[in-house]
Amino acid sequence: MTSEKKISRKKLKGAAAVSKYMADYYYELDDAAKAGDPKIAWCTSVGPAEILRAMGFLVYFPETHSAMLGATRMATDLIPEANALGYSPDICSYLTADIGAYLKGVTPLAKVYEGITGIPQPDVLVFNTNQCRDVQDWFSWYGKKFDAPVMGVYTHRNVGDVSKAMVGSIARQMEELTGPLEKIAGQSFKLAELKRVIALSRECSELWKKVLETAASQPSPLTFFDAATLMGPAVVGRGTQKAVDIYKALLAELEERIKSGDGAVGDERFRIYWEGMPVWGRLRAHSELFAGLKASVLASTYCNSWIFSRLNPEDPFDSMAEAYTELFIVRSDAAKEKYIMDMLDFYKIDGIVYHDAKTCPNNSNCRYGMPQRLERETGVPSLTIQGDLNDLRLLSDEQTQTNVEAFIEQLEERN
Ligand code: SF4
Repeated sequence: MTSEKKISRKKLKGAAAVSKYMADYYYELDDAAKAGDPKIAWCTSVGPAEILRAMGFLVYFPETHSAMLGATRMATDLIPEANALGYSPDICSYLTADIGAYLKGVTPLAKVYEGITGIPQPDVLVFNTNQCRDVQDWFSWYGKKFDAPVMGVYTHRNVGDVSKAMVGSIARQMEELTGPLEKIAGQSFKLAELKRVIALSRECSELWKKVLETAASQPSPLTFFDAATLMGPAVVGRGTQKAVDIYKALLAELEERIKSGDGAVGDERFRIYWEGMPVWGRLRAHSELFAGLKASVLASTYCNSWIFSRLNPEDPFDSMAEAYTELFIVRSDAAKEKYIMDMLDFYKIDGIVYHDAKTCPNNSNCRYGMPQRLERETGVPSLTIQGDLNDLRLLSDEQTQTNVEAFIEQLEERN
């Protein structure tokens, strides 16, 4: 799917540094898996990674692996393997693609990183249900497969205001993880180390926020499609100095772009907000489609999900509980709508694209009237595209192209 119109997208130098970071990250995990040291913890993408890191674990995130399965377009053929075990084609296609890949003995890591032949075996798996229940099922399956303990934080969902009682209950669950984790890690929990990791995680989060906020400039120096590939260190590396260094350099590059008036999309005419997950196997195609129409998709809820502004090293457990509960995905529709309205103002948005990802209702916010309510409230029009994060059988490229072109024409008419 490419637009016939002239496409102008500009690459960031920081992308090469992020690629190198991700290579080092996976090689370090692979070395540890082969040597049996350090121990490896699997964690959900918005799980309590800081605790695991502070206890000496290397932390592996299966969702990032599954996004690679999507981006390399391996996922679609692997999903039926998990379906055959009873995991429905309608549930999370991160889960089904990842389990399918394991069953088939394949991984994109082996394609991208010479010498790596498989995913790193876990010593423990830790999830947080703040994003969905699927992560619990996913981790439980691997826990049995590897005979490794599985632990979880069970959080509130559909949260309006984050109350003290909620924060207290989640903070307690997080604190209670440390005892069993000490036995697996073979070392005692040290509060000072957790504080140090949280300080680094907060710094990474602040820098990532600033990186994303550069998109408020006109023209925007960054697109959502760039950010979706640049966010790797914010997900897998939060709590490390290396991730902080990556984003300092990236931010400097983006600030240079702003100074020279250099937009990520040449001749930016429309500014679009993306609500929902990326279609990993169509990231480039979608980037080209919008750029060809001089529309910059420049901000998203999805990439903002790794901003944890509440983290505070002086109040480690409560602040982690707060940071991982105030996330968009955990919140009520009213709280989500308020958030999106703030984003529309901040980024000076002309239109919203909702991605209705068939296998992830948790990240699809267009099913209960939100687009209509927001349009009535703000006057900003929207388009919903049907698709999926990983399962390419659930989208039609032709329909997406036709709908996006019609939507941009509609924006043109409003000008
Ligand atoms: S939030 Fe959606 S994509 Fe992510 S693990 Fe849960 S169901 Fe899968």
